[in-house]
Amino acid sequence: MLIDFHTHAFPDAVAEKAIPTLSRCSGGVVPAYDGKIKSLKAHMLAHDVDYAVVLNIATNPHQEKKVNDFAISLLGDEMLVPFGSVHPDSGDAISELERLAEAGIKGIKLHPDYQNFFVDEERLFPIYKKIADLGFITVFHAGADIGYPKPIHCTPQRLLKVLDLFGDAPVVAAHFGGYMLWEEVAEVLCGTQVYFDTAFSYGKIPPDFAKEIIALHSTDRILLGSDMPWSTPTDEARLIRSLQLDDATTDAILFNNAKRLLSI
Ligand SMILES: [Zn+2]
Repeated sequence: MLIDFHTHAFPDAVAEKAIPTLSRCSGGVVPAYDGKIKSLKAHMLAHDVDYAVVLNIATNPHQEKKVNDFAISLLGDEMLVPFGSVHPDSGDAISELERLAEAGIKGIKLHPDYQNFFVDEERLFPIYKKIADLGFITVFHAGADIGYPKPIHCTPQRLLKVLDLFGDAPVVAAHFGGYMLWEEVAEVLCGTQVYFDTAFSYGKIPPDFAKEIIALHSTDRILLGSDMPWSTPTDEARLIRSLQLDDATTDAILFNNAKRLLSI
């Protein structure tokens, strides 16, 4: 059994445009599938994944409602846990969060690079506070993005400054807490209440460093994520299994932590 906490899929018509563009912007990373829901589910079955969190992102304020309509449309699917998204420049972000909560959406994805904000900017605070009130899980893209030039909008230092605003609502820093910033992750985020997902780390993070981060942090707050279609759950699970952690810890990372967090 695997639970993949970090996957992407789009409405069919959007996927046909978005996947080639994203692939080109990321320097030619070859997607595992065409970005459609049907293909995501076929890959889940092929990679032994029982549940996948589908991270939708409102890349501009005008798309926000459509992106969330798509997330809500996936709610009945027994293999998928769709997350919604709000854009900081949208005047409707707060009411959109309420709409998502009422519909039964469990989490929100925010991508500071795609959405053009620094994670510790004050204009985001009302959104964070609303998320805390509604008890959503928040997934931040964290660290460098291979498709975006510097500056990095969600560094461990910046994220640390705003974690308290979320109260008891869980926050997940993707890519082992900050893609390509793992020394800073070890220094400032390990030991805090934040969760890390493992997305897009296989072949990039030195395995010894992944093991050190897990040891410094908490085995209860690491979640298997792949970033499908940009990596695969089999590869990301292979990284975790290669660390030779004890069985209970491996199972916690591969599915039990996510099960608890998502209440499934
Ligand atoms: Zn991703």
